[in-house]
Amino acid sequence: MSRVVIVGAGMAAARLADGLLDHEVVMLGDEAHPPYNRILLSAVLEGTHDEAGLTLRLADHVDLRTDARVVEIHRGEREVELADRSRLPYDALVLATGSIPTLPPIRGLVRVDGRLDDRVHAFRTLDDCRRLDAAVPTARRAVVVGGGLLGLQVARALGVRGLETEVVEGGEHLLRSQVDGKAGAILARDLARLGTTVYTGARATRLTEDGLVLDNGYVLGTDLVVLTAGGRPSTALARRAGLEVRRGVVVDDRLTTSDPHVHALGDCAQHRGRVTGFVPPAWDQAEVLARILRGTPATYDGSRTVARLRATGLDVAVLGDPLEAVGEVVEVTNPVVGSHRRLVVRDGVVVAATLVGDLTRVGLITQHFDRRTVLGPTEPGELLMPDRPPSPHTFAADAEVCACAGVTAAEIRRCASLDDVRATTRATTGCGGCADTVRQLLATRTSPQLEGTSR
Ligand SMILES: Cc1cc2nc3c(=O)[nH]c(=O)nc-3n(C[C@H](O)[C@H](O)[C@H](O)COP(=O)(O)OP(=O)(O)OC[C@H]3O[C@@H](n4cnc5c(N)ncnc54)[C@H](O)[C@@H]3O)c2cc1C
Repeated sequence: MSRVVIVGAGMAAARLADGLLDHEVVMLGDEAHPPYNRILLSAVLEGTHDEAGLTLRLADHVDLRTDARVVEIHRGEREVELADRSRLPYDALVLATGSIPTLPPIRGLVRVDGRLDDRVHAFRTLDDCRRLDAAVPTARRAVVVGGGLLGLQVARALGVRGLETEVVEGGEHLLRSQVDGKAGAILARDLARLGTTVYTGARATRLTEDGLVLDNGYVLGTDLVVLTAGGRPSTALARRAGLEVRRGVVVDDRLTTSDPHVHALGDCAQHRGRVTGFVPPAWDQAEVLARILRGTPATYDGSRTVARLRATGLDVAVLGDPLEAVGEVVEVTNPVVGSHRRLVVRDGVVVAATLVGDLTRVGLITQHFDRRTVLGPTEPGELLMPDRPPSPHTFAADAEVCACAGVTAAEIRRCASLDDVRATTRATTGCGGCADTVRQLLATRTSPQLEGTSR
């Protein structure tokens, strides 16, 4: 039996191990915990999700070693070296090292002894989450640096916990990697309505005793500074081993690096010039790589991106790349209620979408996006008019309900309960954005015969 060694015990690694039941799998993770759902950390901070529910199930055959940092790859000997200098041989090596947060150029974040100022927090790991959680009860004010998906999730979590929270974003608007200025402005208004002040086009330059100093002259007095801006693929190990690395570890369509015995996937990998940073592509890659390692022909040719913001009172879904997509734009903006819905349609097909403040149609729009349905001339407009929520009965059997785990409506309808859904399909265990739809599908479950006729 060949031995697959996986470096990193994160979300991609856990999914890959699932598909390698016939292999000896050794998973080496440098955190103290078994793989867990990183997406839900902000929900744990917010208090709407239990920490115990984060753990990702691992099959019994996996030899998981925690607190095991790999420091070197000896490609000639096909061995990895751990921090304690022990070595472990492999037949196939998989790099699933994720990404690391980068420290923004703000003076005063790091003290003279090299440690972070006590007020400063990163937010990537469960330990980061615990440390921030422990600091919340004695804090009154917080500043989140970075107005991306992660920054907004953390800001809402801290707001829900009762802290006066402010967000500083260097770009001209929030979520600037995903949405346009109009959607960003609606989001900023939503946040203001929820009690969080947003500073866009402003950079934090210094942390002093008085607070965080911005380049526009403002000084934000604060007890906590949470850094969510910037992160990059964790590539140091691959680089030291002489593998081809650009922004990420370069892989081909077989998720293989410049060494045929070494693969990479998830946030650390770069495929066709792109690094991803989301769970759905990491899990798509894990499924393809598992097939490749099992000896079944398979190739990875990219993933659609579906990003959801998980935060109480803030609803955002982004399908595809609305900033780059080319096509005709159909949009409805209602600043009075704080909603913005925008479809990019090419030859009748939805190629990208942004939904802010109203996700009642997200399931149906995702279905059309996934299936590349050719819509009639009036349909895109009608999709943006959520006068009544769509019934889960309208989901075709093969409509994808959970984008993270690639689960269809039919698979959900076959399950007896939410626990059954989680255990057998993994739907709702990724970003959780499908949870409402899954509940509705379960509540309106039909008999297998009826379901068969709806295909
Ligand atoms: C707080 C937060 C919220 C997020 N929210 C969303 C979301 O809503 N939707 C979404 O799609 N994505 C989200 N993401 C991104 C998502 O979590 C990642 O895309 C996903 O975890 C990638 O999986 P991965 O296995 O590549 O990396 P990770 O899950 O980061 O795992 C990599 C692991 O490898 C370990 N490691 C690194 N180097 C070594 C080494 N040398 N030796 C041993 N171990 C090592 C790391 O410590 C880490 O545990 C979020 C990320 C964060 C941090």
